[in-house]
Amino acid sequence: MQNHQGHCPTCGIVLKPKTLTADTKGKTMSIIRPQQEHKIDVNESCTSRKVVIVGAGDVGASFAYALLQSGTAESIVLIDSRREQAEGQVLDLAHGLPFVPTTIIRTGSLDDYTDAAVIVITAGAKQKPGESRLDLLKKNAHILGQIMDEINARESQAVVVVATNPVDVLTYTALKRTGWPRDRIFGSGTVLDSARFRHLLGAHCGVDGKNVHAYILGEHGDSEVPAWSMTHVAGMSMDDYCPACHKCNDWSQVRNSIVSEVRNSAYHIIDAKGSTCYAIGLALVRIVGAVLRNEHSVLTVSTLLKGEYGLEDVCMSVPCIVYQSGVERIIEGKLVDEELQALHASASVIKKALIEFTVSLSE
Ligand code: NAD
Repeated sequence: MQNHQGHCPTCGIVLKPKTLTADTKGKTMSIIRPQQEHKIDVNESCTSRKVVIVGAGDVGASFAYALLQSGTAESIVLIDSRREQAEGQVLDLAHGLPFVPTTIIRTGSLDDYTDAAVIVITAGAKQKPGESRLDLLKKNAHILGQIMDEINARESQAVVVVATNPVDVLTYTALKRTGWPRDRIFGSGTVLDSARFRHLLGAHCGVDGKNVHAYILGEHGDSEVPAWSMTHVAGMSMDDYCPACHKCNDWSQVRNSIVSEVRNSAYHIIDAKGSTCYAIGLALVRIVGAVLRNEHSVLTVSTLLKGEYGLEDVCMSVPCIVYQSGVERIIEGKLVDEELQALHASASVIKKALIEFTVSLSE
């Protein structure tokens, strides 16, 4: 064992001298923590598959539960301002460890930000029945700002994924607050909404939703935009697929009802049971898996636009390539005029919320 400082031999990620010792001849490296030792296979594309979840409520715990079963993370660390909440969730999850791929799960402290590969923020207030995501902004901007300051103070090299709502505005404020490059902080955006869209389209067409390529773009919220012109079933556009499908008499009516169901899903679920958590948990596993496995997956995460789709200085969802360092690039697909206008209208909604929030701070 020798002191080791510098970069991961395989992926180049900066390693923290304080916490790392390494056996450079053997196959494993060990990150020594005060209470435990993590074994890492150097053949992995990343030295650390440590995922820190900030906020151990419904979303954080559902994500941890799904992540645990996926075997994607080497270690999962839960942090919550209510320590007992995090401890309870960890105990509950840890009792299932004999049934899942080997993973370390524990509560953590702010120091865990330092060597995390990914930090997922689910901390904050959630929507109450009838409350819009933008109503949450004032409550959650303060919480997110504090968390980002703490992450920044620990010189974390992690990719940060924001799930707390309103996710687009909060992703923007996180970027501005830290000054980090846009690739390293992004929001879960409309990955969940796109999954709802694919599921409903697949159910209607009698096709596995995994074989439906479809994206919801724009705000993760009321102004979101279904990108019909990018939608494909078995490689066919909807215009080509529909005549061969024979599942409905009036496609335009079905189309409207699918859009409305996607848009209002969260409200229905919140009315029924108080929160949405399982599908967002799975969506976060998909996103974090793309980072940890360096997948270059196309996902509609919320990212800072700098002229793409004719939009500037706003975070919203568009198809992005997600890899080990976050968002590698944005794909500018071809939208029809109507969709592009709707995307611009969605950007205006997000910008308006940001302006109202900024004004409220100065009052
Ligand atoms: P919850 O109330 O069950 O959990 C939130 C947790 O955050 C609580 O345990 C709370 O103690 C903790 N917390 C608050 N401030 C904190 C801080 N400063 N540091 C650490 N922890 C802190 O809420 P939930 O249902 O888990 O929802 C969490 C957020 O996720 C909400 O904003 C909700 O709107 C959002 N959400 C997003 C999506 C999406 O698609 N992006 C989907 C569902 C929910």
